[in-house]
Amino acid sequence: GDTTGTAPGTSGDLTRRWQGAMMDNFGTPRLPLVRGRGTRVWDADGREYLDLLAGIAVNSLGHAHPAILSALTEQAAGLGHISNFFVAEPTVALAERLLELSGRAGRVYFSNSGAEANEAAFKMGRLTGRPHMVAAAGGFHGRTMGALSLTGQPAKRTPFAPLPGPVDHVPYGDVDALRATVTRDTAVLILEPIQGENGVIVPPPGYLTAAREITEAAGTLLVLDEVQTGIGRTGHWFAAQAEGVEADVVTLAKGLGGGLPIGATLAFGPAADLLAPGTHGSTFSGNPIVCAAALAVLETIEAEGLLAHVKRVGERLRTGVESLAHPLVAEVRGAGLLLGIALREPKAARFQQEAQQAGFLLNAATPDVIRLAPPLILSEEDADHFVQQLPSILEATGTSPT
Ligand code: PMP
Repeated sequence: GDTTGTAPGTSGDLTRRWQGAMMDNFGTPRLPLVRGRGTRVWDADGREYLDLLAGIAVNSLGHAHPAILSALTEQAAGLGHISNFFVAEPTVALAERLLELSGRAGRVYFSNSGAEANEAAFKMGRLTGRPHMVAAAGGFHGRTMGALSLTGQPAKRTPFAPLPGPVDHVPYGDVDALRATVTRDTAVLILEPIQGENGVIVPPPGYLTAAREITEAAGTLLVLDEVQTGIGRTGHWFAAQAEGVEADVVTLAKGLGGGLPIGATLAFGPAADLLAPGTHGSTFSGNPIVCAAALAVLETIEAEGLLAHVKRVGERLRTGVESLAHPLVAEVRGAGLLLGIALREPKAARFQQEAQQAGFLLNAATPDVIRLAPPLILSEEDADHFVQQLPSILEATGTSPT
């Protein structure tokens, strides 16, 4: 495609205008996209890509799913009123449905992003009156100041010190470290069931169960950040359900909205009463248009049997990549359709470029881990197509100078 030309509507034009008008806050090249349908997207030059990233686990039903489109247009034509003084059917129905899927009594606070969902959990922790919090090294919980203080990645935190705290970051997957660090002074232990941003790190079996036991004994809130793993991504409604672990607080965003911005903080038991009236809020909280889209996501996952589908296609994708036994691939890990391909060399960024050239969107979660988080509707043919093309992408990655 023409990425250097500047004719209106071309990739080159969009890129040039992005550079002129927008902050380059991520510092990564951006592919100018114009259209999406199902698992495919098209760039401004008409090139087609198989979307193996879905934003990053955001477009859970793929692009332009009819169920989301009709939910959006019906709700927007019906009632789009947003205010802390009113409530509408889709908002309440979404909260009820999320609690139903959790299988427990509780209450929901809606926000607009994953960071905000965790920010609410942080404030719940403060309201316990306990001074201290624990999170995992390498963990990612968002970029607002509270969520950032929970995030266990020094490069992201350091420029913004001092952060609200104190937060101790313990090695992820290490039960002894939890036992040594969580005390009766600890308000919150926050963990991802699988660390997504850190390179799809799966903790040892029993880790979340141990975290539940340790927090219960200390009277500490266990917060599970399911922003990336929740709503079908791992083949369960919530990843922690695979181990039968029940947290006090569960945070959601990304795939819940199927492409629309929403965050949710689910709180169970006594934790449900922590955000007392007057303690928290946001203008767009629970807005009926986005809640209608999120309800459509939940209904479609159920109606189309997508949880079972995700397990099946995810397994096919994982074993497909494994069976190539390529020397550059160290390991394939994850659950359902959240997969990390760990390379033996730090060539994930290079791989990302080569894959894009070959018509696949995915990302380098870390320098040596490629993340796949495709729409949950990814077909077996889509998965096979990627596996078939993988050797030549790996070849180009391995032989090109980095
Ligand atoms: N928690 C986790 C586990 C995430 O993966 C992310 C986003 N990558 C966030 C929180 C932050 O979500 P948002 O970007 O919507 O603020």
